[in-house]
Amino acid sequence: MPFDPTRIAQPGILGLKPYVPGKPAETLKREYGLDQVVKLASNENPLGPPPEALAALESVLPELARYPDGEAFRLKAAIAERLEIEPDQLTLGNGSNDVLELIGRTFSGPGVDVIYSQYAFAVYALVTQAVGARPIVVPASQWGHDLDAMAEHITPATRLIYLANPNNPTGSCFNNQALANFLKKVPAEVLVVLDEAYFEYFDPAERPDGIQYLSDYPNLLVCRTFSKAYGLAGLRVGYSVSHPDVAELLNRVRQPFNVNLLAQAAALGALQAEDYLRCSIEVNRAGLTQLETGLRHLGIETLPSHANFLVARFDNAMEINEVLLRNGVIVRPLQGYGMPDCLRISVGLEAENQRLLDVLATHGGR
Ligand SMILES: *Cc1c(COP(=O)(O)O)cnc(C)c1O
Repeated sequence: MPFDPTRIAQPGILGLKPYVPGKPAETLKREYGLDQVVKLASNENPLGPPPEALAALESVLPELARYPDGEAFRLKAAIAERLEIEPDQLTLGNGSNDVLELIGRTFSGPGVDVIYSQYAFAVYALVTQAVGARPIVVPASQWGHDLDAMAEHITPATRLIYLANPNNPTGSCFNNQALANFLKKVPAEVLVVLDEAYFEYFDPAERPDGIQYLSDYPNLLVCRTFSKAYGLAGLRVGYSVSHPDVAELLNRVRQPFNVNLLAQAAALGALQAEDYLRCSIEVNRAGLTQLETGLRHLGIETLPSHANFLVARFDNAMEINEVLLRNGVIVRPLQGYGMPDCLRISVGLEAENQRLLDVLATHGGR
């Protein structure tokens, strides 16, 4: 009999569909013979990396023959100081995706129910499926998390609930009151994972800060990342803040050197980049308004967003996507999220946003 690896793979793996990332600019250039490409597909920081991170990288290059500090002592100390928490509450990951996977492997598996929202970030579903847990997908309300309904779906077998605030890809959010009400309803034996990947972009006047809830809720864990506002998506650094006992369990599963030496150094540098962060938030605020206004003028409906991207709705999203690609603009189709008439557009620099609007005005408006 020929060798068939699907006969020996774990059942959870066989049902998996691989995560579809945004098309890299290089790939589009190659495929379409373009030399100018605008990538608005992966919610990256359009300003490039912070200068403080680049300087830090430069200074650690001579150390590259060494393994990184597996405890990431200096980075943890700096994050802890910034967030006014203790270093033993931190779990670092090769991107927060890595932390999300550690959580899934530590707290879910066969016989466990895991709750997340319809249209929630794809990684929650991927991890849940991979470990063989049962997903409970709660219908969204106006594209956002329906926290009341999510609380009602908790079963005796529930161990994990994933929340994203703001959510990717919808840009939807919930406020302090909604989070507080929700946490009160969750039994102590259920871990709530609050993914705040876009925290820095979320208006401080409106955003709940998950870290403020940790002292009252030891069953809460907050995820953050250096990939978005801190401009280090290519280096892969993210982390969770939790009760130290939760962090201790995650640490048992974690690969000892999961955050590499360059990533640790750059993240440490990025924490000093206050002007860069302020500028990133400002560029994003202006760009979001530019896109919302420009799309509205073209008669294109958008969903309200609290992050660094927005969702636009079309009658023929896949055709529009093709038009954009042919004209060197990469956005993210959302049919994999069950939103086939939607494209997700990351906020770019002013000229990049304008390029997208110009292509739509010429070829794709209504
Ligand atoms: C981008 C994103 C992440 C972060 O991914 P990294 O692995 O840290 O790059 C996590 N959660 C959500 C909802 C995201 O959109």
